[in-house]
Amino acid sequence: MNSNTPKFDQAIQQYFAGLELDKKGGQWRTCRFSGEKFYVRPEDVKFYRKISVPLPTLSPLERWRRKLAFAPGYQFFKVRSAHTGKEVISVYPANTPFKICEHEIWFSDQWEPLTYGKVPDAEQPFFDQFRELQREVPRPNLNNDSSNVNSEYTNSSMHLKNCYVTFDSVYGEDLYYFECCTNNKNCMDCWACLSADSCYGSHGTKIFKCSFCYWTENSIKSYFLFDCKSCEYCFMCSNLRNKKYCFSNQQLSKEEYEKKIREINLGNYEELQKYLRDFQELRRNAIKKNIYGEKWVNSVGSWMVNVKDCYFVLFAYESEGVCYSLGFLGARDSYDVLGGTNMELCYEFLAISAENNYGIKFSHTTNNSRDLEYCDSCFSCHDCFGCVGLRNKSFCVFNKQYSPEEYWRVVDLLKTHMLGRGEYGEFFPPALAPFPYNASLTTAYPGFEDLEKAKQDGYWIESAPDDASVETSLPMLRASELPLDIKDVDDSILQKVILDEEHNKKFRIVPFELAFYRKYNLPLPRVHPFIRMAQWRKDMDLRLQFWEVPCAKCGKVVPTMYDPARGEKNIYCEPCYNAKVA
Ligand SMILES: [Zn+2]
Repeated sequence: MNSNTPKFDQAIQQYFAGLELDKKGGQWRTCRFSGEKFYVRPEDVKFYRKISVPLPTLSPLERWRRKLAFAPGYQFFKVRSAHTGKEVISVYPANTPFKICEHEIWFSDQWEPLTYGKVPDAEQPFFDQFRELQREVPRPNLNNDSSNVNSEYTNSSMHLKNCYVTFDSVYGEDLYYFECCTNNKNCMDCWACLSADSCYGSHGTKIFKCSFCYWTENSIKSYFLFDCKSCEYCFMCSNLRNKKYCFSNQQLSKEEYEKKIREINLGNYEELQKYLRDFQELRRNAIKKNIYGEKWVNSVGSWMVNVKDCYFVLFAYESEGVCYSLGFLGARDSYDVLGGTNMELCYEFLAISAENNYGIKFSHTTNNSRDLEYCDSCFSCHDCFGCVGLRNKSFCVFNKQYSPEEYWRVVDLLKTHMLGRGEYGEFFPPALAPFPYNASLTTAYPGFEDLEKAKQDGYWIESAPDDASVETSLPMLRASELPLDIKDVDDSILQKVILDEEHNKKFRIVPFELAFYRKYNLPLPRVHPFIRMAQWRKDMDLRLQFWEVPCAKCGKVVPTMYDPARGEKNIYCEPCYNAKVA
């Protein structure tokens, strides 16, 4: 078969021919951002060769950070629409250099992205030209389609009804302060839930009326559970299976349990804080499996279900041959993807809420597409290079339409020159991120807090802009002045602004929320919702990093996501865990 890009193919073959690999066929490299040494495994080299890209110059962790920096954080701002001049809710801060317009308009035929087309100059630096285009083409204020009903304050979400401040979620009703969830209703402050109903501050699968339950499945009416399955009416327990009326891992009678529960008032802020501290201690002491997952084969990662031949993955479902990636379902032979459902042969791809993608490289926020490189916010496209905001297009470069023959000629030239200049083969440079680093998804993960270092690496830092949902003309109450008990909160709180003193952010309580706290006897929160939403990953120390530790029971050294420096106790290898817990 004749290649579409003969010049580039020759250049990349020369690159691989000159590559000095070790005996195994891999190579140690030094990350150009962190200075850390990282190993490119022989199977990685094989993958890069297969998709014709050079070896990465950044460590897996830095590659992951860079994609996070291209995704919005869990917050909203208000910006002026470049299309209508109206003020709109947005994931872009008010001082964004981009042209923002209403997503309803953006996803309509009211504008034509090809009118922004430019002729590329292969001799000139690619990313300077791309940046010019990126600043001219409008971007949607929110990445939502039209399937959401009465859910204005949501992003990267579909099929939501009556939801508020909800992100990266599909199929939900009455969800407040919610992220990364599927098929839930009537919940608040939850994350990574599947089929949860009437839950608070929890994550798990098939849970009903659970509050503060982590890694819990098939459980109902329980509080403060960690790694429990099929439990009901349990309080402050870990590693339980098929239990009822357990309190602090002690079996009680129904009457004893109910008596104890009656004496507890979680609607009191201080009492709740005490139980939350106990819960933290409980989690620290609980037995943890070195790797969480079901039906995984020949893989390194955690939270893997039905996966095979995966390496350095977290939250991986029904996938095969995926490496250095997080949060995906139905992916095959892909590297460095973040989010996404149904994809194959993708590399360095930020795919949150994206589905059905094939052969996408160095791109973000593209959906239902194939064979795109260096594209940003393109939907239902194929064979495009360096494009922004296209829908249903093919054979475009810099938003300019070509015939297939011309397209390949232009792309061959561009890619060959880019490879020669060291530009080709990695994700967009940090400076091209659509969000300031400190308003991006990096804020939700631990380990990326050093803004000075980020700046040195080329990330764009802005002074943290104020959040949008606050009207300052209302009377303000300091969080520390809030009534301790929900019983003492009257409806006037709805007309006040609360100052989260610790984070210097203002927020309000909305009617659904107040009714929820009253119904489930929970005190008013004192921390701003955006901060609460970003916190759980930090509490879990969720990083795309793995270590080796001895099993606390048998001493066998096993891989784990728990950093030994954190001093987690009771990490068990799978057989020991299964013998003791499962
Ligand atoms: Zn063991």
